This record gives sequence, structure tokens and C-alpha cells, in this order.
Amino acid sequence: MTTETRRGGSWLIDTTEPSDVFTPEKLTDEHRLIAQTADEFVTNEVLPSLDQLEQKDWELARRLVRRAGALGLLGVDVPEVYGGVGLDKTSSLVVSDHIARAASFGATYGAQVNLAILPIYLFGTADQKQKYLPKLASGELIGAYALSESGSGSDALGAKARAVRQADGTFVLNGEKMWITNGGFADVFIVFAKVDGEHFTAFIVERAFPGVSSGKEEHKMGLHGSSTTPLILQDAKVPAANLLGETGKGHKVAFNVLNFGRFKLGAMCTGGAKAAIKEAATYAAERRQFGQPIASFGAIKYKLGEMVARTFAVESLLYRTAGLIDSRVEGSPAAQSTDGSAVLAALEEFAVEASIAKVSGSETLDYVLDENIQIHGGNGFVRDYPAERHYRDSRVNRIFEGTNEINRLLIPGMLIRRAVKGELPLIAAARQLQDEILGGPAALETGGDAPLEQELRTTAAFKKVALMILGTAMQTYGEHLTDEQEVLTSIADIIMAGYASESAVLRALDANARKLAASSLQIDVARVFVNDAAGQIEIAARDALAAMTEGDMLRTTLAALRRLLKVTPINTVVLRRIIAEETTAKGRYPFGA
Ligand SMILES: Cc1cc2nc3c(=O)[nH]c(=O)nc-3n(C[C@H](O)[C@H](O)[C@H](O)COP(=O)(O)OP(=O)(O)OC[C@H]3O[C@@H](n4cnc5c(N)ncnc54)[C@H](O)[C@@H]3O)c2cc1C
Repeated sequence: MTTETRRGGSWLIDTTEPSDVFTPEKLTDEHRLIAQTADEFVTNEVLPSLDQLEQKDWELARRLVRRAGALGLLGVDVPEVYGGVGLDKTSSLVVSDHIARAASFGATYGAQVNLAILPIYLFGTADQKQKYLPKLASGELIGAYALSESGSGSDALGAKARAVRQADGTFVLNGEKMWITNGGFADVFIVFAKVDGEHFTAFIVERAFPGVSSGKEEHKMGLHGSSTTPLILQDAKVPAANLLGETGKGHKVAFNVLNFGRFKLGAMCTGGAKAAIKEAATYAAERRQFGQPIASFGAIKYKLGEMVARTFAVESLLYRTAGLIDSRVEGSPAAQSTDGSAVLAALEEFAVEASIAKVSGSETLDYVLDENIQIHGGNGFVRDYPAERHYRDSRVNRIFEGTNEINRLLIPGMLIRRAVKGELPLIAAARQLQDEILGGPAALETGGDAPLEQELRTTAAFKKVALMILGTAMQTYGEHLTDEQEVLTSIADIIMAGYASESAVLRALDANARKLAASSLQIDVARVFVNDAAGQIEIAARDALAAMTEGDMLRTTLAALRRLLKVTPINTVVLRRIIAEETTAKGRYPFGA
């Protein structure tokens, strides 16, 4: 597979060729096969069981997890020596993308695969991997991840759960963990507690250990078919051999696992959005009002066009990131090792992109599901149609795996940390750019008739705006920048819109160069997305500049911003109509199989 080999975040500074970017159109036969397996499993076995799962039939949930194991869907990230199928990260993304149509089961699946299997694979000893991974990958054991507590969610390191080392090397754990997915029926928990009340540490805790029990099921807004309970540790006895990673290094386990979890949550959200577009398109074609299908109304076409454009952009950035992670793993000296070190390094490298995937994916999904209800009218508000269930199920995506506020803060925060460490030449690039734009007319060039030529230049300008605002923020606030959350959030919005826009444009250009049938529609979609992103980026950049500068400096920087973002609006009405009509004609999201 051809794809970019880069450092995380370097796309912000570098130019990328369309042919270098991994896209859904470049999936191999192996990827397509696992996608089909996941799809058939969800259609034939999970969706028909959803109502029963919502009655909290956890025996059924166990059977479905086991079935997913038998199909190889749980062991995608696990090497064969530990009972998995050892596929690349793109396969892992593909499975999440396709399993998402059943959100409750998606949560069960995500906790098993991302939050229980992955920490043991990445941080476990050889004995721990031998003992737990084959049974977790087959679904014989159910896994869960217990980080949050009632008083420490976002502030995970503020956990109160304690572990006390005994004279014989074992640990005694006390505390209560909250909102644990799979909590009601999991056999194995990855638990975080502070050794001697101080050293934040991860443990593998079995339900069968003395002193381990679950609290009552939470009454949730959605995801009724997924178990969420407290985990109670009352003098729980944990063998020395079940320490996961090093004492005092629990944060490494917690945060690295979340990196990958976020990326895959982005994939699940995109899969959910594509499924909802199918429902909306089908309904809009069938539902008649004023003597015609509602799909013929411009207001409905706007919605369908926009749902597709936003979903396409997130899908593009996800597959691009999967390609980046895979090429990083393949290029690593440890690529052939089964110890997980190459994967760990790659996931750390692309942590910024993982946060972008999580935030953009969850917000796009909520937008799509909201419009799906609107397209369904009254039928969207009642339980006879699945639209209302999707809407309730999806809301938590903006809350767990790091709230979207926390992830937004992480995006510029991690980029700045990498720049300061010398891993990313961000500071030099920002300085050079400031000299360039503040000193002279660095206007966006116009003209050129090649497809997406204008959009390619615009996305380059988006990246310049991101660098300009980031550079100004670093200069203005120095080490106090972390206190300026509103500015950091605006910067995150610019960076996210920039990555999504560039990924959409590069994907469409690559499809065009390869003369793929869908390329013309991809071009239309990319044009709509970039046009809209220009407006959003301009607002975010103006807000940030006005917060940071004043007087002549504000006037100068705003003038530079105007020159950079001088984008002529295009007729998105026509383009959205084309996209909507194609979507309605196909009765589904118009890209991919
Ligand atoms: C259905 C469900 C399943 C879950 N599954 C699991 C699981 O399997 N394992 C697990 O460990 N946890 C799980 N969680 C917990 C989840 O990860 C936390 O709810 C989440 O991390 C947010 O923590 P909190 O609820 O304490 O919110 P808080 O941290 O109290 O946040 C409240 C608000 O304040 C904002 N905020 C907090 N700190 C900051 C800050 N520094 N700057 C700016 N804004 C801030 C947040 O963004 C949010 O908007 C689950 C939760 C739910 C609802």
C-alpha cells in the first residue's frame, strides 16, 4: 500500500501528494473481507438481538462477543502467537467502522478490544499475555477498563482508589470505579489505583479475586444494550503477577490505550453516520408530502448533501491516519516483534490525529443523527424507527474516551510539546510564516482550472492560519498558554478543519487521478466541505486574534488573515443538490461498497 511515512502533526507544515495518502478506495482484498465479515455479523446476528440486549440480557452479550471472537473480530490487533489474527491497524479501523451500526454492542466490543485487550498486549509481561490474550481474543473472557471514579473523570490521575503492597508482594486494592462499560458481566478488569496512595498504577484484576464486585446498572440516556456499572474493590486481593506495566507508570498505560481508543471511536462514529445516511436517504425517497417525495425538496437536499460532505471528510482523515500509523509500524525496526513496541510508538506518534478523529467523528455523528431525526419528522421522535435510538446512543461519544473539551485542549497542547522537544519544527515554521505574512501580501493565489486547484490552495492557507494563530498564541502567552482554554479551543477547531479539509481534497484528487467512478462526486463533496470550513476557520481565527492582540497589531494580523483566507464562495446549493440526488438514488452513503 502506498502511503505517507511521516511524523505525527507534520502534515501541518509539509505538503502531501494525493497519491501518498491512504484512502478507503485503497483497501486491499483482505481489508474488504474483514469488512464483509463484520458487516454480515452485525446484520445477521447483532441487529436482530438489539431489543433483547436492551433488556440487559448479558448472557446474550457474552454469546455475541464469543461469536465475534470466533470470526476473528476481537483479535485483529493481537498477534497470532497470542491467539489473535495480527492484522494491520487499517483492518482494526475497518472493523470498528463496520461494527458501529449497533452502537450498544459497539460499546461492548470497544471495551473488550480497545480497553482490555490492548493494554495487556502493549504493556503486559509475556506471562500475562499468554494467560489473558487468547481467552480475551476468543471472547471466552470478557474485559473492561476501570479508570474513572465519581470524583475523577477527566482528571483521571486524581483517582482515590488505593493499592497497598503486602509483605508477600501481593496488593490489596480499595476504592470504587464508576461508569465501567461491560461492568455487569466482565471477567477481567484493567484497574487503575495509587500504590500507597501516591503512585498511579495499572493492575489486571479478575472478578473472581476476593473483594471484587459490581454495583447496580446505571440508568442511562442511551446505549441500553451495553452494561455500565461501578466496580467495587473492598480489600481486593491482587497477586503481584497482575501488576500491569510499572508501579507509578499507570498514566502511560491509561493514555496510550486512550489514544488508540479515540481513533477507533472516530471510526465507529463514522460507521454510525454512514448507516444513518442510508436510513435518511431511504426514508426521504419513500416519504411523500405535497404529492412528492420529501427528497425532492431543497431543504432536505441540503441536509443530505451536508451529512455526506461532513462524513466524507471525517472518513478521509481516519483512513489517512490509519495509513500513517501502519506505515510507521511497518517502518519501525521492531515491526516484526510481537511485543507491541512498534505499535505503541506509532500510536503515541499520532496521538494528535487520534484526538482529531474522536472529536470530529463524534460531532459529525451527532450532526448527522440530529438531521436524520429531522428528515424522519414525527417518525424520528417515536420508537418505531431506529432514528431516535441512534440519537440517544450517540450522545456519550462526546463524553467518554476523554471529553471533547479535553481532546480539543490536547490537540494544540501535544503539538506544542512536540515542538518544544524538537520533534516537530513548528516554532520555526510559525516564525517564518509570521515574517512572511505580516511583512507582505501573502494572498491566496487564485485561478487555475484543474479540479480542486483552488481548494488545494485554500487548504494550504488553512494550515498557514493554524500556524499563524498557534505562533501568535505561543508568543503572547508563553508558558501560560495552558490557561487560555478559549484560544486553545479555537486553535484546535482550525487544526481539525484543516486536517479534515486537506484529507478530503487529497482523497478526491487521488480518486480523480486514478479515474475512479466516484471521483466526480468526491470532488463536489470536497469543494462543499472546504468552502464551509473556510468560514468556520475565519471565525475561529478572528476570535483567537481578538483575544490575543489589540490596536495596530490586531488590525495587521486581521489584514493578514483576510489576505490568507480570501476565498471566493462557490455555489454549494447546486453541489449539495447533486450530492443529495446521488445519495437518494443509491439509497445510501454514496462512497465505498
Ligand atoms: C456510558 C458510559 C460509559 C463509560 N465507560 C467507561 C469505562 O469503560 N471506563 C472508564 O474508566 N470510564 C468510563 N466512562 C467514564 C467517562 O470516561 C467519563 O464520564 C469522562 O471521562 C468524563 O468524566 P466526568 O464524567 O467525571 O466529567 P467531568 O470530568 O466532571 O467533566 C464535566 C465537564 O467539565 C469539563 N472539564 C473537565 N475538566 C476540564 C478541564 N480541565 N478543562 C476544561 N473542561 C473540563 C468536561 O469536558 C465536561 O464538559 C463512561 C462513561 C459513560 C457515560
